[in-house]
Amino acid sequence: MTKFLVRLFAPRGRIDFVLKWVLQIIACCLLYAAIETLVNGYPSEGFRDHFKTVVLTSAPFFALALWLFGHMYVLQVELAELATKDMLTGLPNRRAFMEKAGRASKDPGGVLMMVDVDHFKRINDTYGHATGDMVLQTLADHMVTVIRAQDTVARIGGEEFAIYLKDAPVGVVQEIGTRLSQGVMVPTADGEERVTVSVGASVADGVRAIDRLLSEADEALYAAKSQGRACLVMAVCDAGSHVF
Ligand code: GH3
Ligand code: MG
Ligand code: MG
Repeated sequence: MTKFLVRLFAPRGRIDFVLKWVLQIIACCLLYAAIETLVNGYPSEGFRDHFKTVVLTSAPFFALALWLFGHMYVLQVELAELATKDMLTGLPNRRAFMEKAGRASKDPGGVLMMVDVDHFKRINDTYGHATGDMVLQTLADHMVTVIRAQDTVARIGGEEFAIYLKDAPVGVVQEIGTRLSQGVMVPTADGEERVTVSVGASVADGVRAIDRLLSEADEALYAAKSQGRACLVMAVCDAGSHVF
């Protein structure tokens, strides 16, 4: 409710500030006049003079209230971003992903992918944490270019990402999974190095909840790691898995 009121009253720019200021004063004066007429009858000095006094005395308070509403709106937008965005990569975070993928998985035919960077600890240990961070950012940018417009990618943990592909036939999943698993070339102190990822995927049937899809994809990811990494493994609903 507070969120709704802040969004309704808050000005979003200079013109909006003036417009909302005028509109709110008019609305309040009309309300005030209606209530006063009901309680005290028609004002003796006439409505015009009465309005003038009310507008002049209330205008600065309305300006202050609007400024406060504007400030609250900016804070609300900033907080919403902090709550849903991963600050290192700029991708949505786990919370935002679960909400969006949770909704999308109610339709059958989508695919959930869990992506984990291969041997990432070694990158950190060899080249330092800053290079590790840069690798995560490069991989995040790469994933955004590999997925389609209707898909979602998020960073859901340290070096773990999740992707939800909407309406994805096996061929598309295979192609995206293969391109992802090849990873990216990153500049290092020793020149250049390829960093790959392993991918586990599960197919949504519109019935299984997002948590279930996530744990199935996680199991498939585990299988991808044990099958040599840098590959896609697809979980099959009735037990077993497909390796691509
Ligand atoms: P595997 O191929 O089996 O996934 O091995 P791995 O080394 O990638 O996995 P492991 O779980 O051993 O190591 C993950 C590392 O990721 C450990 C942790 O320090 C690092 N890490 C987690 N978050 C961040 C981060 O934000 N920045 C950097 N630079 N490193 C991170
Ligand atoms: Mg991991
Ligand atoms: Mg890893």
